[in-house]
Amino acid sequence: MGAPFTADDFALRMERVARAAAGAGLDGLIVTPGPDLAYLCGYEPPINERLTALIVSTGAEPVLVVPRLERPDAEKCPGGSQLRLVDWPDGRDPYAVAAQILPGTGGFAISDSAWSLHLLGLQAAAPGVAYTSMTRALPMLRAVKDDAELARLAAAGAAADAAFADILGVRFAGRTELQVAADLGRALVEHGHSSVDFTLVCSGPNGANPHHRPGDRVIAEGDAIVLDFGGSYQGYGSDTTRTVSVGEPSAEVAEVHAVVRRAQQAAFEAVRPGVPSQEIDRVARAVIRDAGFGDHFIHRTGHGIGMSTHEPPYIVEGEERPLVPGMCFSIEPGVYLSGRFGVRIEDIVTVTETGGARFNNSPRDLAIVS
Ligand code: ZN
Ligand code: ZN
Ligand code: ZN
Repeated sequence: MGAPFTADDFALRMERVARAAAGAGLDGLIVTPGPDLAYLCGYEPPINERLTALIVSTGAEPVLVVPRLERPDAEKCPGGSQLRLVDWPDGRDPYAVAAQILPGTGGFAISDSAWSLHLLGLQAAAPGVAYTSMTRALPMLRAVKDDAELARLAAAGAAADAAFADILGVRFAGRTELQVAADLGRALVEHGHSSVDFTLVCSGPNGANPHHRPGDRVIAEGDAIVLDFGGSYQGYGSDTTRTVSVGEPSAEVAEVHAVVRRAQQAAFEAVRPGVPSQEIDRVARAVIRDAGFGDHFIHRTGHGIGMSTHEPPYIVEGEERPLVPGMCFSIEPGVYLSGRFGVRIEDIVTVTETGGARFNNSPRDLAIVS
């Protein structure tokens, strides 16, 4: 169990993002509820039609605008002592309140997950401010994890590995995808996850759809099954994929699995500081292309992970920014043969000073289940 983040941790983060905003030519940030807000001050209010917004302006004290009824919760949040709280009562225009805190002009990055209701309200109340996407302006805001965050992601990965080990022992043949998905969810919680975000069980031909949602299909002997599962552990995400075979695999499933495993391993071995993110994608793709399955690897190789499951850095062609120690992301190549089966192998990886390290260490061979 990692120690809770302290007021000092949050103060440092807010200082760092204010500097980063200035470095990006911005006057500040507008952070609405979600992972950015949790990261900056540890506050996780309900996400709804009432405006809550942290306004971090360069050279000024951070201000948290909150609905009056939520003020007691906001005061108690771990970073609360580092903020000035401004509340607004029901019946008052919260955007006018926020506009008094914002300067009349300037550039502000706003959380990607801000509701359009709130952004449109701010735009009307503070029309002189230029609003821009947080991910566009400060893509690496949360990308480099500190030691305490790395410890949480490592624990999340170990818990997901333990859940997978349990799942290898359950019955697959004759049960539905939904039943196995429920087993997976239970195993994640038993191993310490506080929430389960997804438990994909993609059996037989459904495996050819990378985001197939588990359904009523009854799993049969000989199926290849893509299991992709994850959730939140101490506020940080897990995301793991393994492909298993119900009984002996066909020669073709075994062949495709070996190709994907080689691609995943090669991409992992390419991880080190300074390498452009897209290079990791290229390495995985080259292995699959050379094996003749290039047209069947139909998504990017990976995504960053932290307080959200999909965040920068994206491991995709065109992402030229270099890997930095402390970044964490998935490496998840796959091959999808329409109408027949799919194979994917996914681990969460972090960039170290000299290379990469995995947070998932479940065996990557084609496990045989019953
Ligand atoms: Zn996905
Ligand atoms: Zn996944
Ligand atoms: Zn993933």
